[in-house]
Amino acid sequence: MQKDKEKGVTMEKLVAFAKNRGFIFAGSEIYGGLANSWDLGPLGTQLKKNIKDLWWKIFVEECQDVVGLDANIIMSTKVWEASGHLEGFNDVLIECRECHARYRADEEIPGFAMRKTGPEGSEATTFTYELVEGHKCKNCGAKGKFTTPTKFNTMFKTNLGPVESEESTVYLRPETAQAMFVDFNEVVRTSRKRIPFGIAQIGKAFRNEITPGNFIFRLREFEQMELEYFIAPPKTKEDWEKQFEYWLDQIMKWLERIGVDMERVKPVEISKEDRAHYSERTVDIEFVYPFGQKELYGLAYRTNYDLEAHQKHSGKSMAYKDPETGEEFIPHVIEPSLGVERTLLAVLLSAYTEEDAPTADGKTETRVVLKLPKELAPIKVAVLPLSNKPELRKLSKKILEKLQQHFVTEYDVTQSIGRRYRRQDEIGTPYCVTIDFESLDDKSVTIRDRDTMKQERVKIEELEDVLKEKFK
Ligand code: ATP
Repeated sequence: MQKDKEKGVTMEKLVAFAKNRGFIFAGSEIYGGLANSWDLGPLGTQLKKNIKDLWWKIFVEECQDVVGLDANIIMSTKVWEASGHLEGFNDVLIECRECHARYRADEEIPGFAMRKTGPEGSEATTFTYELVEGHKCKNCGAKGKFTTPTKFNTMFKTNLGPVESEESTVYLRPETAQAMFVDFNEVVRTSRKRIPFGIAQIGKAFRNEITPGNFIFRLREFEQMELEYFIAPPKTKEDWEKQFEYWLDQIMKWLERIGVDMERVKPVEISKEDRAHYSERTVDIEFVYPFGQKELYGLAYRTNYDLEAHQKHSGKSMAYKDPETGEEFIPHVIEPSLGVERTLLAVLLSAYTEEDAPTADGKTETRVVLKLPKELAPIKVAVLPLSNKPELRKLSKKILEKLQQHFVTEYDVTQSIGRRYRRQDEIGTPYCVTIDFESLDDKSVTIRDRDTMKQERVKIEELEDVLKEKFK
């Protein structure tokens, strides 16, 4: 029986597990920690790397129509003027006048929105004040004691060079996407890709969130895996919708491949009022976390808003010329935008399982298994000698040396074999290789499967190939 899978593991349990096993722990802890900063330990680092590597492999290396980019975190301030982030990358802040608790209004108050009320194309916005008036502070219970909602720009500011001045003010990028627009001409020229094609990037983004929290769900420093897929200006609605549906499907396939519980994945159509200013259509791919259903990824049709904006502000043409027809146009773009840490969280929540397992003396105990897809598992194979005696150690080290050329391998000789199996189950290691005294005579070892707990005897000379086959 899978105990926790049925109701889902609680956040408390997952956070404790992630800390104990060295996946994720609080940052700057010896100094009392830094609020909402989390460091990835050895296993978390490897798991995150595997997620990013797999995304890159699927969406860049295996696609003839997608190329990669690795741009600067700090870009010219003109980029953010043009993209609208300086003006519009705001959250709405409210503060309780009684206890000074601060909230992001749209998160805290159901139905609150920054409504666009001005004429088409104008920037005028109003807030739904009446909802704030009637709202109770969840910290102190005071009703209607909130400050007037104010816009708060969430971009992190810093200075380039030794002098702090308006001219030296720069920003840490709040999304990786803009580089794909700013570098568009260079990428077209050097990659010789033809529309439709995509540019992908994985990298850090920074947002001075009003209410970070829920473990690694909302961070101020996080990573994104973003792809801008450029298409010709659509002649009909179907033209771009076809592409949009394609990328929605790709996101779903990706989630299945990385073992996310698909019953907890909910695509949600975002209304016009709640969409970003540049988007003609947005679907949020939400996930049912223990703290509620919230955004995991976003998919947006950004039209040609960004390239147009950069053309206007830079004075440089961002037009693409079709080499066959000679036609010139500013491409439109579909953008799947994936947060790496939210992926990590959804993967861990989906993989964490508690189930009944038999003990050596015929009883039943609960075992924790991280049922990660094999390609994501941080450790692929554990080499476990039954004893540390010299002759067994020599053989085990020889096996380890061979295996670690092909798989991320861990060598563990401490504790009973049963406990070592449990530890590997907990960190999601798909296979354990056990070397016992018989191995010295029959030149064979035992492979134990994480999920079925079944064991099979394999000749040492065939071990590498047998494991390779299992990972295919
Ligand atoms: P939210 O509504 O949760 O603030 P958003 O709509 O502002 O998210 P996007 O601008 O669409 O987010 O960013 C694309 C993706 O980047 C998100 O779907 C999410 O996976 C990730 N992301 C955004 N903000 C954060 C954050 N503060 N911490 C972790 N990941 C984030």
